[in-house]
Amino acid sequence: MQTPDAPSPAGLYTTNAPSEQNVRLRERGMRDRFGRLIEYLRISVTDRCNIRCVYCVPESDKGYEQDRNLLEYTQITDLVSVLAQHGLRRVRITGGEPLVRPNVPDLVALLSAIPGVDDLSLSTNGILLPRYVKALKDNGLRRINISLDTLQPAKFRRVSPVGKWEDVWQGIESALEAGLSPVKINCVLMRGINDDEVQEFARLTLRYPLHVRFIELMPIGNLEFYKKEHVFPVGMAKTACAQLGELMPVVEGEAVGGGPADVFRVPGAQGTLGFIGACSANFCARCNRMRLSADGYLYPCLGHGIRVDMKPALSLPPDQRESAIMQRMEQALAVKPEGHQFISVIPHAAFRTMRAIGG
Ligand code: SAM
Repeated sequence: MQTPDAPSPAGLYTTNAPSEQNVRLRERGMRDRFGRLIEYLRISVTDRCNIRCVYCVPESDKGYEQDRNLLEYTQITDLVSVLAQHGLRRVRITGGEPLVRPNVPDLVALLSAIPGVDDLSLSTNGILLPRYVKALKDNGLRRINISLDTLQPAKFRRVSPVGKWEDVWQGIESALEAGLSPVKINCVLMRGINDDEVQEFARLTLRYPLHVRFIELMPIGNLEFYKKEHVFPVGMAKTACAQLGELMPVVEGEAVGGGPADVFRVPGAQGTLGFIGACSANFCARCNRMRLSADGYLYPCLGHGIRVDMKPALSLPPDQRESAIMQRMEQALAVKPEGHQFISVIPHAAFRTMRAIGG
């Protein structure tokens, strides 16, 4: 059983006087050895999930592994408040399914209060969203990504056994009703499974202010599923969408959380369409992010096994914490690879699932 996290004690954000090294870091932001500015952290709060998507969870996987070593919300907040002083501006709460961990709205309140963090978002499968959306919004969440891979309830049970399509759809409606904006729909493309629904997904943007993001299947998670020729390149999804009307390029500004997607709008649509091809349209050169697993490892790259353990730094007394955090962050910046290894060394991508690292 997980226990609720304690609220942040007063004075949590005070750090020791900046060292010379930290002053240098602040001036230049957090840059890796390829000159990429790292200003975005995805934070997994649990590796548990309440559904088991076929591409994500291998059959042999019991569903979680990190239960006993979760970072507390205060530790996550400590880390983010230090990194925010060095240029971190964007944070996404994810998992596993973040909303299965108790009191996520409390974490939203803590993170949204950190000076410098001007973009806070959450990724969810939407199932628990109706229960928490008001508290999330009230506590400072502005935008959200909800995963949905099919518009057909019967197919949903095949792709994501355990969950119910209707619950996800209610989650999407609750996000729109609560006024979260933008509401993005993450749709993982799977040949032979949902490639026939691409236009239906695109039509959602005509009817609703929804921003659909088609995501190419990546060799991470259930590699057996990946190997069975389920990849459907985003380029083909784009061609299918173009049959609905000329795709007009959209510059995805900060307001909608500019990410790796190539974004377009069908004329007259309320929402946008984005295409994210990690393998066919490698965007590593513009990578601006790192990931923090629920058990406290910083992963400079999703498609690489390298990681840095942040827990020792987060357990130090406040006067030693900032320099220890930044020392480890420097290590992570120094080893962040130029690109993912999804294509060249596929088996290496199996070291941990996306669920475990933080999607
Ligand atoms: N539970 C949350 C959710 O459903 O969005 C957050 C975690 S989930 C791992 C984050 C995203 O990763 C989801 O959109 C999911 O579809 C995607 N994902 C997981 N495994 C993937 C894979 N092998 N290829 C592409 N996307 C994947």
